Formats: sequence, C-alpha cells, structure tokens
Amino acid sequence: MTDVFSPQKRSSVMRRVKGKDTAPELTVRRLLTRMGLRYRLHRADLPGKPDIVMPGRKLAIFVHGCFWHGHDCTRGARVPKANRPYWEAKIGRNRARDIEHRAALEAKDWRVLTLWECELKDEGALETRVRDVLHREAGEGDPKGGGGVPVHPVNAPSVTS
Ligand SMILES: [Zn+2]
Repeated sequence: MTDVFSPQKRSSVMRRVKGKDTAPELTVRRLLTRMGLRYRLHRADLPGKPDIVMPGRKLAIFVHGCFWHGHDCTRGARVPKANRPYWEAKIGRNRARDIEHRAALEAKDWRVLTLWECELKDEGALETRVRDVLHREAGEGDPKGGGGVPVHPVNAPSVTS
C-alpha cells in the first residue's frame, strides 16, 4: 500500500493510535470487568509499563497493536511501501523492546500475557486464555473441577431369617 503521509505526519497519526486507552485496550478491560477481575492500569514502575496489571496475581497484560509490534498476521505485515526501511526499523525496535520487557518481568516472577489486536474479536477465546493463565498461576489447579464426591447409596442389607 502507498502511504499518503510523510513519516513525520504518519508518526503523529500513529502516536495517537498507539496511546493509552486505545480501543483494543478498552475491549480487554471490559472483558476483565465482566469476568469480575480487578486490575490496575499502566504501572510505570514495571518493565514496559504493562497496559493492564493484576498485582495480587502477578499478571501483566500487554495489548499490542499488530502494526506497531510487528505481529505475524495480515495486519502486522501491512507495512507502508513508502519509507519501508523507516517503518521496519521502528517496528523492529518495538519488537526488541517487547522481548526485553517480557524477560525483565518474568525475571521478577511476573507472568506475561500478550494479547494482539487481531485476536480481540473472539471474546470467548480471549476469556478462555485469561482463565487459563489465571488458573495456571494458582499452582496445582484442578482441571477436573469440583465434580463432587461420588455418593454410594447405602444399601441396608435386608436381614432375613
Ligand atoms: Zn495480529
């Protein structure tokens, strides 16, 4: 695709897109709220300033735009033809930083969940992923769930003489 913006102009357009409280972030926040989960936003004291944080559960969530973070999907591959090297370098730096942030968080015993913009349409799948990561965090977990103790009917032996 041809880019109608100069790199400078494109940068300012994209910076707005990239900012806090983006639509993808709001989608994830609404889902978490619906799931009854409590979270904090943009914790600046953590590596990479994660978009969403659950401090008690030590879970950091990044909501990544596919273009900005170079996702391996059609949207992520849509780099403007004009000034291609500029964009590839910029996105490459973002990706390198993402990897560093993840490693730094994991070194502090945080678990990291990266959600991509293109994955947010399927809220059911998203909810499953969040539940999975929280479940795993609980340690052992019990995948079988509380199925209940089998009840043995007590058969009083009939006494015959
Ligand atoms: Zn994507």
